[in-house]
Amino acid sequence: MASITTEAKSAATIGVENPATGELITTVPLLGAEELRQMVTRARKAQPGWESLGFENRGRVLRRAQKWMAEHSERVIDVVCSESGKTYEDAQIADYGYTVAALGFWAKHAPRYLADEHVPSWNNPIVAGKRMVIRYAPIGVVGVIGPWNYPITNCFGDCIPALAAGNSVILKPSQITPLSSLLMEEMLRDCGIPEGVFQVATGDGSTGSEMIGQVDCIMFTGSEVTGKKVLQAAAEAMIPCYLELGGKDPMIVCADADLDRAANAAAFYSMNNSGQVCISVERCYVEAPVYDTFVQKVVENVSKLRQGRPGRAGSVDVGALTFPPQLETIEEHVSDAVDKGAKVLVGGHRRQDSGYFYEPTVLVDVDHSMKIMREETFGPTLPIMKVADTEEAVRLANDSPFGLQASVWTRDTERGEQLARRVEAGVVCVNDAQVNYSALNLPMGGWKTSGIGARHGANGIRKYTKTQSLLVTRLAPKRDLHMFPYSRLRTRALGGLFKFLYGRGKRD
Ligand code: NAD
Repeated sequence: MASITTEAKSAATIGVENPATGELITTVPLLGAEELRQMVTRARKAQPGWESLGFENRGRVLRRAQKWMAEHSERVIDVVCSESGKTYEDAQIADYGYTVAALGFWAKHAPRYLADEHVPSWNNPIVAGKRMVIRYAPIGVVGVIGPWNYPITNCFGDCIPALAAGNSVILKPSQITPLSSLLMEEMLRDCGIPEGVFQVATGDGSTGSEMIGQVDCIMFTGSEVTGKKVLQAAAEAMIPCYLELGGKDPMIVCADADLDRAANAAAFYSMNNSGQVCISVERCYVEAPVYDTFVQKVVENVSKLRQGRPGRAGSVDVGALTFPPQLETIEEHVSDAVDKGAKVLVGGHRRQDSGYFYEPTVLVDVDHSMKIMREETFGPTLPIMKVADTEEAVRLANDSPFGLQASVWTRDTERGEQLARRVEAGVVCVNDAQVNYSALNLPMGGWKTSGIGARHGANGIRKYTKTQSLLVTRLAPKRDLHMFPYSRLRTRALGGLFKFLYGRGKRD
């Protein structure tokens, strides 16, 4: 594996292992309260200078980083694969590919999304004729806390718009996969980011928890359980907090769907990255007339998947599980389903390799009494359920505490869009899944317990700012109509004006 700088800053350390082999790669510091205080002090000191560089010069650093990434693509992919156990392709598309695009996107679009907005004043007599402007000022020091499933995208990816907006950023990556974030720190240093503007705080939950009390805003991606703790801590610190949490994404296959495409997609979007994707297809509902054919196509597809230790491009389709305890969750969900009557058509076991692997698994005869249909499994599993019609499919899709993403598959795209609008999820794709994540101008965020706020689009960067409203009075009399001393005449005149403006005409 390519080397990463893991400068020792703290006595306590965390071991980072390769989950595909079980071998220890290196150790990183487990930072505590004092180290974090020092980091936040450095970040606060550096922020005004970074802000004053303006969009153009900040964008220059991000564009240089884009070039750096493109030139070091093999090293980036290598580091991601080694600490996550994912395949070359999973790292290439969703970590490297996403981030190399995002660096350019935010460099280009930050000035437009954060440009001053002029607000009309003519429609209110109290402020008529005044200049009114909304400006987006950086919030200060942004803390980003990330998970292990996409070590760059779900960690560093959320730092890019915060940096483009003029903030300093401290990133607390998952203790399972910190090396990719350290590589991003090295990248930005090489590309000339000023000292203290971007720092990586390696550590575990205690490090993340310490950080919340010291920064000005928290962007968190992770589980629902931790998300609730983060939200409580952010409330205590009275800082804005955005949460991107878990999901149980439903896939609805209509009788008129292109079954080949739907089956290929079901296999891919449930098994890619070993199913450790927040927006993975976690459950599938298929209309009765096409159920048997669809299941047969999915089974054919999943049976052919090559699973194993990730190597070079094209060597395997499904890699390891990144987080060892995930194996137990998957086993628990599969055995709970089987105990309640489900049938395993493919897979269904952990593999006895040196790393952490669970076989790509397809289940049928499932229902909503089973954990595999209700709780986030986060593994290479696809439970498929037969439904009478799309009404039943929508009802079951919405029978969930989660609302991250969903997909509807039909040749009638107009009807597909109508069905999509009835599914309770922050994103719904028709004849597609997951690819919306690479549309950086399309918001992505969860409903229900899947999150608060969204990434991408205008609000994906505005959330890292505080708005300041400016009201400027240029030409004005010595005394306005509403000022002291009150007089009967002027009060009546104002009353007449309000009636004229707001009280004319008929109302139903
Ligand atoms: P996790 O909640 O266990 O950990 C996430 C991060 O929080 C880690 O960096 C961890 O060290 C830190 N942390 C733990 N306790 C903390 C505390 N008390 N205060 C502050 N930080 C704390 O999640 P995970 O297992 O790393 O990630 C998997 C989960 O992430 C899944 O549920 C998945 O669906 C979700 N996820 C969501 C999205 C999304 O965009 N919605 C994307 C990727 C992953």
